[in-house]
Amino acid sequence: MELLEQMGAEGHEQLVVVSDAGSGLKAIIAIHDTTLGPACGGTRIWPYKSEQEAIRDALRLSRAMTYKAAAADLPLGGGKGVIIADSHTEKTEALVRAYGRFVDTLGGRYLTTTDVGSTGRDMEYIKQETDYVVGLPTTSGGSGDTSIMTGLGVYMGMKACAKEAWGQESLIGKTVAIQGFGKVATHTAHHLMKEDATLVVTDVFDEELDRARDMGLKVVKPDDIYGVDCDIFAPCALGGVINPDTIPQLKCKVVAGGANNQLLTDADGEDLHRLGIVYGPDYILNSGGIINAEAEIGRVYNSDRAREKTERIYEIMERVIAISKDEEIPTAKAADRLAEDRLKAVRGIRQVYRAN
Ligand code: NAD
Repeated sequence: MELLEQMGAEGHEQLVVVSDAGSGLKAIIAIHDTTLGPACGGTRIWPYKSEQEAIRDALRLSRAMTYKAAAADLPLGGGKGVIIADSHTEKTEALVRAYGRFVDTLGGRYLTTTDVGSTGRDMEYIKQETDYVVGLPTTSGGSGDTSIMTGLGVYMGMKACAKEAWGQESLIGKTVAIQGFGKVATHTAHHLMKEDATLVVTDVFDEELDRARDMGLKVVKPDDIYGVDCDIFAPCALGGVINPDTIPQLKCKVVAGGANNQLLTDADGEDLHRLGIVYGPDYILNSGGIINAEAEIGRVYNSDRAREKTERIYEIMERVIAISKDEEIPTAKAADRLAEDRLKAVRGIRQVYRAN
């Protein structure tokens, strides 16, 4: 499909291709939809093999941000920036500041923040060139580490799924198998431990496993996590882990975690639905990070506001479950429906005359 045809079909508004010879910057900014507010999404710094690959990723990720922000009830649209570079060897102050200047030229249509390959320090560089940046470190007055709120949101979403599966939100005595014991999983684990849930975790790094053992948690090998006898399986590492190979191994009643793009395909969401496993859609449960960053836009960052909005993920997940039941569709589809309905309703607002 031709590029503009694809953008039209998927509802993208704008694709910006930027280059700065002095710093070596090559970047793409995709703005998917600004119905609800300025397009917001992180800047990924990744050594893409081709420009086409970078464009495809920017288009795909910006669209996903529209859905995440819409479902999370935020006044934001979806956007994403990608810089074609290796963040370990090619990222320089000049490159990041050059990128910030291009973000500024969009006049606030796009707000950037951190993503794979970019850090709070990079956002500080970008801030030197533009005000259209969030996710600054707390020491610079920003919202800081997003994984704290993301971890809380995953926990709240899990509780809503538990209510559907067992008739009560309490996780006391429930066993949760966590795949990937990184930042988000650790924050979720702290909430679960306060509620006396039993945790079984895995990771590919020994350091993370030692930390889990020090916290008194049971540890299993990476491949064994799917078959753990548990109530909740929480993918908190990679995408695509819910697929035809792993679904038959699951012994849980709920799948709820923080990783992005957990379902390999839509059919895997349908399979979970058919098997009666309650799935907490990834972008509903992991929206705490963007909620946290939004609490920084245009005001002094307020962690209470971010926390209160993140806790509402419980109610949003309840709404998703209600749509899924009413329409007899998988929760992943129900989440999309929730987001699309909000976009449609706001798009329909009549323009009214306003004298200047
Ligand atoms: P992280 O890098 O801190 O943690 C991921 C962990 O998964 C690492 O410890 C890694 O060793 C482990 N891992 C990788 N491959 C694995 C495998 N095959 N089996 C078991 N463990 C494996 O990252 P994070 O910030 O905690 O993010 C986790 C997931 O949540 C990612 O998918 C991320 O995109 C998503 N997410 C994070 C945020 C956030 O605020 N950090 C927000 C939204 C979504």
